[in-house]
Amino acid sequence: MAMHQRTFLRALPLVPPLLLAAVISTSAEPGAARPVALSGLRSWSSPASTRVVFDFSAHVTTVAPDSGLGREVVVSLPGESVTRGTNVPRSLDVRDGVVDSVSVELLEEGTRLHLWFKDSTQFKVFPLVSEGTSPYRLVVDVARQGAAAAEERRLSGIAASKKPERVRVVAFHAGHGGEDTGAKGPGRVLEKAVTLAVARALVDDLNAVPGIRAVLTRDGDYFIPLRERYRTAERMKADLFISIHANSSKRRGSGSGSEVYFLSLRGASDQADADLADRENAADLVGGVPAQAEDDLVNILYDVKRASALQQSQLLAESLLDHIASSRRLESRGVKQAGFVVLKSVEFPSVLVETAFINNPTEARLLKNPEFQEQMARQLTEGVRVYFQRAGIGLLSPDTPGSGSFR
Ligand SMILES: [Zn+2]
Repeated sequence: MAMHQRTFLRALPLVPPLLLAAVISTSAEPGAARPVALSGLRSWSSPASTRVVFDFSAHVTTVAPDSGLGREVVVSLPGESVTRGTNVPRSLDVRDGVVDSVSVELLEEGTRLHLWFKDSTQFKVFPLVSEGTSPYRLVVDVARQGAAAAEERRLSGIAASKKPERVRVVAFHAGHGGEDTGAKGPGRVLEKAVTLAVARALVDDLNAVPGIRAVLTRDGDYFIPLRERYRTAERMKADLFISIHANSSKRRGSGSGSEVYFLSLRGASDQADADLADRENAADLVGGVPAQAEDDLVNILYDVKRASALQQSQLLAESLLDHIASSRRLESRGVKQAGFVVLKSVEFPSVLVETAFINNPTEARLLKNPEFQEQMARQLTEGVRVYFQRAGIGLLSPDTPGSGSFR
């Protein structure tokens, strides 16, 4: 990955004067004087924020505040000769209650990207280097006013309801979302869409089981960073965390069947599993998370919790796979281990389900089919119920007297 040279400057002519500006620059190829094309412009709305993404054909040098509070933000590309791609609008009306509009101004002195917000709010500006098929991108994240507090209330409300309502909480993450499409199959079928369809059906089915409350970490087409997925589940004091995906093999059209993963601390079961974990772990680079240092807490208490979580994760993985395999519609590839970032919580058992191969035309057809999505949801629901049985964890409905240790 290329390094970004970020220099802090004061008061540049095209930047709002109240803010310090950062120059985000990357070394251009020697002698490359070709104009850069702005090749894409789009927005993603999530409950917490709105993300505006600009695609460029090559690295660009931008001047903008790194972050700030305001009703608008201007990103300038001084002296940069930029052309606007034929599919890129001159302006974008977002009007989602967070961002009003975005305009692309190609001026003599350089290009300006101007964003207007509905209210004064926090924003962040950061670049994403090209990753896989994704081009070089500039991302502006704009916070929805009050959303962080509302989300905290929602999650602590779920945690607080566990004891009085005598429910176990099962959190699901539908893999990928927003900028991160996940794997692609024939006929433009996208992993991020099929995972959400399966996860929604699964939540409906599980919520019909007395004693279980199922919750989605994303319920729309937007991106959640890898660690944020399990931290959301931790904040709702989830008892289980399940991440839903669809697999894809390197060879076009090949690969078949289902597999369920739990975390490995010592590398993957084999090279293919290591490659898969690498692909899934690249989500933050594709989906859009500013580069930052990660802090993996390590202490003795943590090790004890981790050992217990791993053991229970294996039991959960086996319980789920037993039920997927029971339909004989898909081959069982077994329970496996790899170093998935999304499975790193020690607070609950967590697994990643690779439902089927989206690059295999037969399985892609299944993944798109609502009847198959519902069947997969029913099988995984049964797997969750059986896991609780096998783990000796009773499921109590509100009107069943009895004991149960609810956290
Ligand atoms: Zn995936």
